[in-house]
Amino acid sequence: AYTGPSGDEILAKRKEYLSPSILHFYKSPLNVVEGRRQYLFDENGRRYLDGFGGIATVCCGHGHPDVVAAIVEQTKRLQHSTVLYLNHAVTDFAEALASKLPGNLKVAFFTNSGTEANELAMMIARLYTGCHDIISLRNSYHGNASGTMGATAQSIWKFNVVQSGVHHAVNPDPYRGVFGSDGKKYARDVQEIINFGTSGNVAAFISEAIQGVGGIVELAPGYLPAAYDIVKKAGGLCIADEVQSGFARTGHFWGFETQGVQPDIVTMAKGIGNGIPLGAVVTTPEIAKVLTHRSYFNTFGGNPVCTAAGLAVLKVIEKEKLQENAFVVGSHLKDRLNALKDKYELIGDVRGKGLMLGVELVTDRELKTPAKDETLHVMDQMKELGVLIGKGGYYGNVFRITPPLCFTKEDADFLVDAMDYTLSRM
Ligand code: PMP
Repeated sequence: AYTGPSGDEILAKRKEYLSPSILHFYKSPLNVVEGRRQYLFDENGRRYLDGFGGIATVCCGHGHPDVVAAIVEQTKRLQHSTVLYLNHAVTDFAEALASKLPGNLKVAFFTNSGTEANELAMMIARLYTGCHDIISLRNSYHGNASGTMGATAQSIWKFNVVQSGVHHAVNPDPYRGVFGSDGKKYARDVQEIINFGTSGNVAAFISEAIQGVGGIVELAPGYLPAAYDIVKKAGGLCIADEVQSGFARTGHFWGFETQGVQPDIVTMAKGIGNGIPLGAVVTTPEIAKVLTHRSYFNTFGGNPVCTAAGLAVLKVIEKEKLQENAFVVGSHLKDRLNALKDKYELIGDVRGKGLMLGVELVTDRELKTPAKDETLHVMDQMKELGVLIGKGGYYGNVFRITPPLCFTKEDADFLVDAMDYTLSRM
């Protein structure tokens, strides 16, 4: 049994010793002391179904024995910066990762986070093209260092630091966007930005395939193929941010596959290490060459413990058929959520793919008025019923359901039943 400090004691210390910027969604925040597969346990041993997976991070499940064993064994053998020496843990993982990517995307640079991966990807694109201008999408999230904060396009995540050279294109949001589901029409804005906001050439276009922090927004069909064409003609590279949508979560291995495109650079983090700090930029040998102009150094990037975890994750995804599971269970969950939408006016939209799903709450379906308070209330009540989900979207009115990929149909049913019960009592 747990004998550590209570949630109240931790909260008091957190207020005194930790940054005031950190947030929690619940009226009384949860003190999680253990995780097993798709479950979390609080200080009293109460079990919760984890429908958020550490923000789409835990893909194999909490405490997966294969991943834990890989981390422990490698830690015992060697943990070091492997920038200066050789070690097979790094090359084994890089080779395995390359086998999961299409075409000539095979050269990896390892980092410690998604932010670092996107910073590096943007720098590589700028070096390769000799251009500074980058296009990203409104409502996107790409990180919190100055370059990636510039690429991020939601005011709540932006501070007043210099964020130069990023233009934000109209978001191809099928629910709230002006062109509905017509991806090609939205892509015209990318051309307009190039025509009227740049010299005619750009370094890169960066986007998520399904916006995570932005509230599980699936880009309108046909958008990425059209945008990629336009960007390529302007000499730019296409960067796919797979930090949330990668590693089998959408039922595809990569989110960009849902739009049938092939990026020039892919960035990843979160699910790549099942919760261990690891990120990566993968690109072609030709593009990767630009980093030989100078020395790109990252002390912990690609350390053997994290890359051993990464390799174990790839093996678990394969062995346990987690990609198929994300598709099958995710489709069932989405069907059930859509049935809830028919039952409750409050649900304005259900969207996403695989186990990356969103439910948007609105007080008026015509006006699409964000039901912000209701969203918080339902989340809080679902927690009381033993189910944890996330939330996001610019207005904070979208549930984000991104559980560990070992989620079962029964788990999906339990989650929807808890949501149904809570909505029925409002
Ligand atoms: N890209 C996307 C799509 C993300 O969701 C996030 C994190 N929410 C990041 C990049 C940044 O990753 P990190 O927090 O590991 O720096």
